[in-house]
Amino acid sequence: MDFNLTDVHQEFINLAAGFGKKKLAPTITERDHQGIFDEDLVSEMLGLGLCGAYFEEKYGGAECDVLSYILAVEELAKYDAGMSITLSATVSLCANPIWQFGTEAQKEKYLTPLVEGKKLGAFGLTEPNAGTDASGQQTVAVKNEDGSYTLNGSKIFITNGGAADIYIVFAMTDKSQGSHNGISAFILEKDMPGFTFGKKEDKLGIHTSQTMELVFQDVKVPAENLLGQEGQGFKIAMKTLDGGRIGVAAQALGIAEAALQDAVEYSKQRVQFGKPLCKFQSISFKLADMKMKVEAARLLVYKAACKKQEDQPFSVDAAIAKRVASDVAMEIATEAVQIFGGYGYSEEYPVARHLRDAKITQIYEGTNEVQLMVTSSALLR
Ligand SMILES: Cc1cc2nc3c(=O)[nH]c(=O)nc-3n(C[C@H](O)[C@H](O)[C@H](O)COP(=O)(O)OP(=O)(O)OC[C@H]3O[C@@H](n4cnc5c(N)ncnc54)[C@H](O)[C@@H]3O)c2cc1C
Repeated sequence: MDFNLTDVHQEFINLAAGFGKKKLAPTITERDHQGIFDEDLVSEMLGLGLCGAYFEEKYGGAECDVLSYILAVEELAKYDAGMSITLSATVSLCANPIWQFGTEAQKEKYLTPLVEGKKLGAFGLTEPNAGTDASGQQTVAVKNEDGSYTLNGSKIFITNGGAADIYIVFAMTDKSQGSHNGISAFILEKDMPGFTFGKKEDKLGIHTSQTMELVFQDVKVPAENLLGQEGQGFKIAMKTLDGGRIGVAAQALGIAEAALQDAVEYSKQRVQFGKPLCKFQSISFKLADMKMKVEAARLLVYKAACKKQEDQPFSVDAAIAKRVASDVAMEIATEAVQIFGGYGYSEEYPVARHLRDAKITQIYEGTNEVQLMVTSSALLR
């Protein structure tokens, strides 16, 4: 597969990079250290037109391709990994399932404002007792006589929780159908009565992203907000996560590239034993090794994006890309800290942040153990 980037791809990169340099870079240290989810910056980012990269013009999209979107996520992650997942959760985890499984009315009402960057989106699957095993949903939706549903339960660790306007939420509608056929997906709006927010997570990294608990107490959801068919929720969740994993892989790639870049620059400046660190072969070879790993990960991430674009099966490609890119991000961020020495362990330099941010890419949207399950089950089918 050839990854000659087109002028359009370059435009998406430039848009994200321009925003990253001008708006994210100057305040990232402060926002990271103080754990600031900056709603104004988020609105500005959504307004850039990145959310609509691959959606049709009739929904407000640019009708380009998935790779354009992935390149933008990668680019944003170089400057601010938290902001990159704010965008990725909105597009991959909220807009995409509405686009893939929604009715025309749902698309008009919910997809268009997400694509146009006017609304922020979120995805609520994880519960205290349903993490990797998402089939163990304890949130319940009971169907009422008028066709509406009443939701009760809670979700934890939800990216954009509390800030998002639109939420894709999963709940058990019929336990007798078993976990895989008894779960349904719903579109919730932030201001629905009974829908509130609980604990805000205090995290190791991605401090500029907001992660919150969702609480549902007798939330009445109209029948027209059921996404897909009743009982189709588990399938919708898994398909959605397939796409989301490419976004996380792009985030990881961006973090790895930023860590490598910082390490290269530092190695040229820092003098020990009378010469810059980069003049020691053990350092220059380490940097070369880091570069090779970044480039290998890049091919996997872009390949998965292209397969999604071409409507080819891409679950395994996304799983491989996410596992490899996130492991590469952790490895490179760790090596970057090593090259910085004691300064790398200090919060004065950005490599400490890269290391803290990289870790989450191995965990969310399916842990890296889950990516092994996806890949091994396809391999041994
Ligand atoms: C910052 C952040 C943002 C998040 N955003 C969202 C979001 O927007 N929406 C959402 O729904 N969720 C979100 N999550 C939740 C995230 O997807 C889960 O944390 C993740 O899926 C793992 O679930 P868990 O934490 O319950 O871990 P567990 O499922 O308890 O797993 C713990 C460990 O055991 C391993 N493990 C579990 N089962 C097996 C097995 N069968 N074989 C081998 N190993 C296994 C796991 O890989 C992991 O290493 C977020 C989490 C965080 C931390």
